[in-house]
Amino acid sequence: MSDCGCDAHRAAPLKTLEEALDLLLSRAVPVQGRVSLPLAEARGRVLAEPVASRVTVPPWDNSAMDGYAIAVAGLDEGARLRVAQRIPAGVQGTPLGPGEAARIFTGAPVPPGADAVVIQEVCRQEGDEVVLLQVPRAGANIRRAGEDMRRGERLLEAGIRLGPQHLGLAAAAGLGELPVHRRLKVAVFATGDELVPPGQPLGPGQIYNSNESTLAALLEGLGCEVISLGIVADRFETTCEALTTAAARADLVMTSGGVSVGEEDHLKPAIEHLGTLDLWKLAMRPGKPLAFGHVDGTPFIGTPGNPVSLFVTFCLLARPFILRSQGVAGSVAPRPVWAEAAFDWPKPDTRREFARARLQLDEQGRGSVSLYPSRSSAVLSGLAWADGLAVLPEGRVISRGDRVAFLPYNELLT
Ligand code: AMP
Ligand code: MG
Repeated sequence: MSDCGCDAHRAAPLKTLEEALDLLLSRAVPVQGRVSLPLAEARGRVLAEPVASRVTVPPWDNSAMDGYAIAVAGLDEGARLRVAQRIPAGVQGTPLGPGEAARIFTGAPVPPGADAVVIQEVCRQEGDEVVLLQVPRAGANIRRAGEDMRRGERLLEAGIRLGPQHLGLAAAAGLGELPVHRRLKVAVFATGDELVPPGQPLGPGQIYNSNESTLAALLEGLGCEVISLGIVADRFETTCEALTTAAARADLVMTSGGVSVGEEDHLKPAIEHLGTLDLWKLAMRPGKPLAFGHVDGTPFIGTPGNPVSLFVTFCLLARPFILRSQGVAGSVAPRPVWAEAAFDWPKPDTRREFARARLQLDEQGRGSVSLYPSRSSAVLSGLAWADGLAVLPEGRVISRGDRVAFLPYNELLT
């Protein structure tokens, strides 16, 4: 237990979340090594260098609608033109002659001499002629060459995480592959003599190792390559061996449990023996202890054993560190949405609380946040019930109807 109240422990003040995050981010080094990946394999990867378009898009003026390409000058309502050609998408037309229109379809190049497309809904075709019931202004329904991008123009910056929208843009720009950072390798183990892998029978005093599944899935959600080292016994030597193996195989070592300063908590002495360690007591709830250090030059993050504490410290501290280590540039902090509290919070903690919460929308689209009844950091059911975390500031009473910050899981888990 670390809350013993002895001088040594009282001396270390709680670190704010902001201080801890600043420290972590200042130590994050983007992974070295990059690969060029086909677009189909690049989703979720981090772009390693800026890329430019190979082509101008669209390459030529083209029709935004199905209709008739015309030259507007001198035409009035009721004008009658000869339909001299038919231009579907993928076909290049010929120059428009005087008194002529071209039947044209969406995406087809506008023929030379035409300066507008009149939509088919306001035309009447009679034999090989078309009667214009309306005459549009010049330029109507034409998508201009280069409207989207120009050849050589920078399209995507280094450090973005590639989503479907970026991959589509790269494809439109003619890029078949993209340069990305290699995946961050993270070695993971859970500490605790009480732990048994799920699927096996439980003996007396034993519980299932849930943290390893949570941690591995959290890491995979961020695109990491996970190296699972299983369960490590609560012994100094075993812990040292596991740490050394993990550090040799990965870019980051992450563990669960054993980071308090009790007799059965061996991570602190093991890391101190092998490398360097900062053990932080954070002014947040759940998730007070967090260990950060290095083993043989490999960074180490030790999360608390309590399953909810692990989840919350991962989302708020490890995730930004991991994103930065993957080469993500720009903000890595989750963005809250604000909504009304559907609860009263009369007895705030002195630590900032991240409560398991749900966001609901009423018929007008107004959001309200409800809390899971249990605050225990051992109760996993609340995490699964929730769809985000409500941020309850230290020392602030909250009354029903007050605005509260809510961190949706989609800001925390990807
Ligand atoms: P520790 O941080 O090792 O003192 O563990 C704190 C609490 O979390 C204890 O109740 C442990 O039994 C529990 N715990 C530790 N590791 C795990 C794990 N991998 N899965 C589920 N619960 C765990
Ligand atoms: Mg333990």
